[in-house]
Amino acid sequence: TAATVDVLIIGAGAAGLMCAITAGQLGKRVLVVEHANRVGKKILMSGGGRCNFTNTGASPANYLSANPHFCKSALARYTPAHFIEMVERHGIAYHEKELGQLFCDESSKLIVKMLLDECADANVRIESSCSIERVVHGDSGDFHLHTTRGVFTAPALVVASGGLSIPSMGATGFGYELARQFGHDVLPTRAGLVPLTLSGKHQERLQDLSGVAFPVEARCNRKSFSNYLLITHRGVSGPAILQISSFWQPGDDLRLDLLPGMDAADTLQRLRHERPAAELKTVLGDLLPKRFAQRLCEHWLPNRPMKQFNEPQLREMAELLASFPLVASGTEGYRTAEVTLGGVDTDGLSSSTMQSKKVPGLYFIGEVVDVTGWLGGYNFQWAWASGHAAAQAA
Ligand code: FAD
Repeated sequence: TAATVDVLIIGAGAAGLMCAITAGQLGKRVLVVEHANRVGKKILMSGGGRCNFTNTGASPANYLSANPHFCKSALARYTPAHFIEMVERHGIAYHEKELGQLFCDESSKLIVKMLLDECADANVRIESSCSIERVVHGDSGDFHLHTTRGVFTAPALVVASGGLSIPSMGATGFGYELARQFGHDVLPTRAGLVPLTLSGKHQERLQDLSGVAFPVEARCNRKSFSNYLLITHRGVSGPAILQISSFWQPGDDLRLDLLPGMDAADTLQRLRHERPAAELKTVLGDLLPKRFAQRLCEHWLPNRPMKQFNEPQLREMAELLASFPLVASGTEGYRTAEVTLGGVDTDGLSSSTMQSKKVPGLYFIGEVVDVTGWLGGYNFQWAWASGHAAAQAA
């Protein structure tokens, strides 16, 4: 079959579906091409099955990009309130978990259903299980998608094919290749919001504590996040680690405050005064998970009754507790990463429309672009906002 429409969209994920809805509502004939057998797979698996669909506090400060200003325009024009309005109109119950993060009460399936219902209302056509063989930019300026289901033609082509994370869900480097085909730069990609693996000695000392979790402040490259750390079989995870992983690269100094919100020196002083006969591992065992406190005192701290420590020793121990050097060896990679950092260079795109500055009619939205949010609903907000911006221009 062959069809001509106004807007062709590659990828029926968060950004592609939002773009399709908005363009359809504006009266455009929209066709979305999706190679997977069903749409919105990442939405379905997101937020532990409950989809953290936005963050009420989303601002440009919550995004990483070579150009931190690029995301401002789109985020300002499609805000969390706009998406919440749609969620409420569809009667989907939600709650705030923490830090402005909004989750469905029931299931992320409801978000996919909402997007598909909106697509149907806006007469959007979706072709799933449809693979793209070739993208041709004709002399007339039209784009021709040669697919396993025919050739589709439109004057506007929106690339919403996502990043590289979770290859088992259909993630490909397709969008990056297409960008290069059209003369765009692609900034180096790497896994973000991803568990870290530890180097040999650290890993050996901690691996049998897998499952132990406690609050920390993780710091790296002048960025810090206070939240839980979780020890895993291969290293560390948990929200504090996932957040800081986007700011960490091999070799970078990564520190943990193991007693966040406490002055470690004052705390040790006070405990020496109050419990002079108690051993360090016992007093730390009241502040940290007992097994982790014990492990600290086997490998990193001397275990003695508190009264046997002098001032300089207490200060040194406080220093270690407040700034524990975590020696990460790498990340678990795209297999478990929530996002891909880097991607299509924003220098080649208009920040108000997401349109290519090189090829009129070509757009890039969502995760394929070099804009990556923190953990907490920010990535979907970028997908909604960039999809909306492109639709208004296409
Ligand atoms: P995607 O949603 O990945 O959609 C891209 C689509 O393009 C896919 O359907 C893919 O199959 C299709 N595609 C790819 N290549 C081709 C091709 N060659 N031809 C046709 N189609 C193609 N973010 C949040 O904000 N909150 C969360 O709770 C959250 N939880 C997450 C949990 C997990 C486990 C993961 C992996 C990610 C999570 N994220 C979360 C991040 C979020 O899912 C992504 O940032 C977001 O989905 C990006 O939207 P997108 O439309 O750009 O890409």
